[in-house]
Amino acid sequence: TTVEEVDNPEDLETRAPIVTVMGHVDHGKTSLLDYIREENVIAGESGGITQHIGAYGVTLKDGQKIAFLDTPGHEAFTAMRARGAQVTDLAIIVVAADDDVMPQTKEAISHAQAAGVPIVFAINKVDKPTANPDKIKESLANMNLLVEDWGGKIQSQDISAKTGQGVQELLEKVLLEAELLELKANPDKIANGTVVEAYLDKGRGYVSTVLVQAGTLKIGDYVLAGTHSGKVKAMQDERGKDIKEAGPSTPISILGLDGAPQAGDKFNVYEDEREAKQIATKRTQLQREQSVRTQRH
Ligand code: GDP
Repeated sequence: TTVEEVDNPEDLETRAPIVTVMGHVDHGKTSLLDYIREENVIAGESGGITQHIGAYGVTLKDGQKIAFLDTPGHEAFTAMRARGAQVTDLAIIVVAADDDVMPQTKEAISHAQAAGVPIVFAINKVDKPTANPDKIKESLANMNLLVEDWGGKIQSQDISAKTGQGVQELLEKVLLEAELLELKANPDKIANGTVVEAYLDKGRGYVSTVLVQAGTLKIGDYVLAGTHSGKVKAMQDERGKDIKEAGPSTPISILGLDGAPQAGDKFNVYEDEREAKQIATKRTQLQREQSVRTQRH
């Protein structure tokens, strides 16, 4: 059975924050995520080509870690929330300094607020001659969102996702904000977490990117995610590097599931393989019955 017992406080250890990047189209979400991912590889030990696996981890110079959901925009955020998955600890909301607070910026803000997730604003494109970060901060102030250099409590950082200006500082502010959340998890138990994305790879079979939220996932563990299950045959990070075990707040691609679960599906490790398979079968039946019912209506 899965063990989702209440953790003893002494078993809890600080875990890295899990961050989503949201904002209006073309304001620079993808550029920022790409910059952070690639910069980390340059600073990191092994290098190599990074893949979009839906999530990645960065380690800063001082050893602190941040996990990023690599799907920009709030569609992924709301899709996961709709499935009951509360994965994000913190939201970076990107606003282009040569534009304004736009409809999707406002949407992103209200999504983060509805989820109770703190916001750090990244005022982007400050390398542009037409950039006016103060105008953005004024617009935010008019929405009752006072950033720090306007005397408020909300963190914001002027950045350029193109040149990298301010990105390090942005990440430091994210970590500062995360510290206040006192994020903790017990690494010394069987793992659970959430599926970020999954697909069928021609050569490797089903590849599922999951975010471990508690416990430690190991090769050989029997995993059930949504209606799919299987033994973890291999785990890889965004660089394709083989990993033997993954603790809390680690995004990881796993091989070995018998299908592709959906983004937002919870995953659990089962000690009893048969029990996991039975639950998977039951869930599949339930889904079929539900789809028959909706077809009738
Ligand atoms: P998204 O739709 O929010 O993901 O935005 P993108 O990352 O695709 O960026 C939209 C456009 O803005 C692209 O042409 C980027 O090259 C450009 N861009 C993004 N960030 C910056 C920046 O900091 N400075 C400049 N000059 N251009 C940027």
